[in-house]
Amino acid sequence: MLKVEPIPAFQDNYIWAIHDGRCAAVVDPGEAAPVERFLAQKGLALGAIVITHHHGDHQGGVAELLAAHPRTPSGEAMPVLGPVRERIGGRTQALREGDVVTLAEPALTLRVLDVPGHTAGHIAYVGDLGEAGTAVFCGDTLFASGCGRLFEGTPAQMLASLDKLAALPSDTRVYCAHEYTRSNVRFARAVEPGNAALAAWEDRVAALREAGEPTLPTTIGHERMVNPFLRSREPAVRDAVAAQGGSTDSDAAAFGALRGWKDNFR
Ligand code: ZN
Ligand code: FE
Repeated sequence: MLKVEPIPAFQDNYIWAIHDGRCAAVVDPGEAAPVERFLAQKGLALGAIVITHHHGDHQGGVAELLAAHPRTPSGEAMPVLGPVRERIGGRTQALREGDVVTLAEPALTLRVLDVPGHTAGHIAYVGDLGEAGTAVFCGDTLFASGCGRLFEGTPAQMLASLDKLAALPSDTRVYCAHEYTRSNVRFARAVEPGNAALAAWEDRVAALREAGEPTLPTTIGHERMVNPFLRSREPAVRDAVAAQGGSTDSDAAAFGALRGWKDNFR
């Protein structure tokens, strides 16, 4: 039975640990120290390192983790999974859309999706976690009620990447890499003040954060209802973009205007 647990890092990052009670794969370890503390606390060995994109807050801890854990418990070289189109230090498997990776420790199969936009080579991993359901580890592409900034990609690329994620089964759990939900929801409410599901989610997010709990994972089905960046073709969202003076001439233009609005939203 696989479990997914958050390892908080930096201000608002989550490093996700996927483990079977014995061995853990860690996703986007931007720093090593919190990972080491987590492994020691839970009595887990490290079995794999999984990277979504090249930013330092996602791969900064890889070298230190590799130095401390060069091999898996069964003696294999530590697998380091990462996108083929980006520089990932220590990478052992360079991945692209359609690749399927089967890890031994923990026993886990991950399917790769190309999701460019935040960075040019960003990938996401879809995993079947058995009783824990289907999960997507999407780094800084899709956030709860938001999406990543377009540092290296175009609005059209990011829209296509989010469309791909939105097409996953609705019960797919979304494990993104930052706790940005509260500010994302504040923006989402400005875009869609009449969205009742979003209003209810705002209350739930406030309660979770006041209790010191993560707002993640969310699900693809939930995101389709509350995330303006998965809803940029909805008439209400289009009207809101137009009211801000944004272009709605095409899907990509409307999405780009929505993203630009968020970039300047306080
Ligand atoms: Zn990033
Ligand atoms: Fe990040």
